[in-house]
Amino acid sequence: MKLFRLREREYHLERLTVLKRKHQEISHILDFLQSTMLFQKELYESIKDGDWKGQIKKIYHLFELCENGASSLLQEKAQDLKSLDRDALTYKLEKFLKEKDAPDEERFIFITFLNPFFSKISENMDLKKDQWLKNRCPVCGFKPCVSYIADNEDVEGGRYLSCVLCNTQWLYNRTQCVRCANNEDNTLEYYYDEREKYVLLQVCKKCDTYIKVIDMRIDGLAVPHLDDIATLSLDLWAKERGFLKFERNIIGL
Ligand SMILES: [Zn+2]
Ligand SMILES: [Zn+2]
Repeated sequence: MKLFRLREREYHLERLTVLKRKHQEISHILDFLQSTMLFQKELYESIKDGDWKGQIKKIYHLFELCENGASSLLQEKAQDLKSLDRDALTYKLEKFLKEKDAPDEERFIFITFLNPFFSKISENMDLKKDQWLKNRCPVCGFKPCVSYIADNEDVEGGRYLSCVLCNTQWLYNRTQCVRCANNEDNTLEYYYDEREKYVLLQVCKKCDTYIKVIDMRIDGLAVPHLDDIATLSLDLWAKERGFLKFERNIIGL
């Protein structure tokens, strides 16, 4: 199981390389993401459990990464945070975990750092991912930022939600709005780009909220939280029409 998980992070990096070739217009974003994913992979491999407070000193390496090659806003935020001592930083991270939100740049840094720890917590829990059926993560309580459809041995064509913080995945009703639970056919609409048919927008016309649905039966190599970022043009399309995403992804879209 542990070996499989290690392999999973390597696979995500491979998928990112594929997405970079396909979406050259956002290669600068994906390049930077690659460096933070490498940071996460190393962190993940060096920790045993979810004790992020005990490892807080490792976040300073992430600040350095953000100071090089990131947007100027992210650079500034990394510099601000770097000037804090460990207690003040721990307090900020605790506050983020409690409130489950922060301004985009801070949120990016905190999710990047916390993800490996909460992945460990998730792995150590005996989770019945086909029985949870809620719109909050069973591990950390954050919201899912993307969903996908896949077949597995128990459920055929099930729709799963994927947590923005820890990437835990669990089953959710396929034809139900993730925000207001609306399940009327005539107020749930689906949109997609002809060139990317495996990425659907599920839009609820009752609450004007959307979430992406990555159809793994069309592209079985997709990694939902990465393919979501790579198809940011769909988010811009939805934004122009006044639809609000149920939860922003790690880059704030
Ligand atoms: Zn979670
Ligand atoms: Zn709704």
